[in-house]
Amino acid sequence: MYCMFLKSYVAPNTTLMTKVTPILTDTHGRTHNYLRISLSEKCNLRCTYCMPHDGIELTPSEDLMTADEIISIARVFVENGVDKIRLTGGEPLVRKDFSYILEELSKLGVRFSITTNALLTHRFIDDFKRFGLQDINVSLDSLNAEKFKFITRRDQYKKAFENINQLIAEGFHVKVNAVLMKGFNEDEIVDFIKLTKDRDLNVRFIEFMPFDGNEWNKNKLVSQAEILNRVNDHFGIEALQPLVNEKNFTARNFKIKGFKGSFGIISSVTNPFCDSCNRIRLTANGRLKNCLFSNAETDLLTPFRAGENLEQLIDKALNKKEAVRAGMTDFDQLTNPDLHNNNRSMIAIGG
Ligand code: SAM
Ligand code: SF4
Repeated sequence: MYCMFLKSYVAPNTTLMTKVTPILTDTHGRTHNYLRISLSEKCNLRCTYCMPHDGIELTPSEDLMTADEIISIARVFVENGVDKIRLTGGEPLVRKDFSYILEELSKLGVRFSITTNALLTHRFIDDFKRFGLQDINVSLDSLNAEKFKFITRRDQYKKAFENINQLIAEGFHVKVNAVLMKGFNEDEIVDFIKLTKDRDLNVRFIEFMPFDGNEWNKNKLVSQAEILNRVNDHFGIEALQPLVNEKNFTARNFKIKGFKGSFGIISSVTNPFCDSCNRIRLTANGRLKNCLFSNAETDLLTPFRAGENLEQLIDKALNKKEAVRAGMTDFDQLTNPDLHNNNRSMIAIGG
């Protein structure tokens, strides 16, 4: 099939889209058609809000999903109505068999996307095009090389920024994710938005979320209200145009009048999106997580290796999904560090 957008050939769909089955419907009536798969617990950066200072204990390689296991387990979800898959990590592109996984996933006939730090994207441009991967989310928390080095603990700003520009020039749908932290980068909100003046780019400001070992503290949070105040102060309230929210949206999107791109705010902490949540996560060691904030996990890999049917397990896991952030309904619960310490670090969940 020829794709006009990417001006390249895209693998034909071989799986018919299925309506979401009761297995992927939770007790609150939400249907889960969006699977995020972590391909690796490893990363070539060390972002302080994601990777604990002393690193994490890595899962032994024999307990991680192989490429073929990833595809087979993903297929079970697709047969039950998943029609969107995001590849994430850790850093998904550090995986040596990434291109093979992409090729096999493209045969499942779903829309797929990736979240990456962009350091290695230049090596995969042709594969992305060949296998129909159009949507690329890139993490970039500062436009200042020194600050980038501080937050990622690596001196790689130039490469990351170069590669983001390359992805835009090559015609991919690029979103830049910036986690905002008070005293670190909230003074760059306007500069990030200025990137969207002449670039077809969506910049998303993400509220800093609490996970094991990331030294979260509510004073570091930059709220949606503060972001919009800064935007209004700089661009003027009449220039700020709210955009229509996407279905199952996680970001509230806006545009500055006359700018080519747009920006969004992901306010999982101060203003969550649980009502419309359609997301489930599979960790690199094959555990299903029904919510980012939940420390409950369902092992799918061991039963898969034993030849067991996964659908019942998935059904049970979905039925346990709480209405709001793993049961942390109010801000006080979410800001209680004791409620996060049993959850994984973000690096091992797959954001
Ligand atoms: N390595 C890839 C990257 O950085 O884009 C993919 C994995 S990373 C865990 C996925 C996303 O999670 C990134 O956009 C990152 O900014 C976000 N993230 C990680 N820790 C976070 C936290 N504590 N609060 C909010 N977002 C976080
Ligand atoms: Fe690596 Fe992404 Fe986590 Fe940064 S946010 S440490 S790039 S996985």
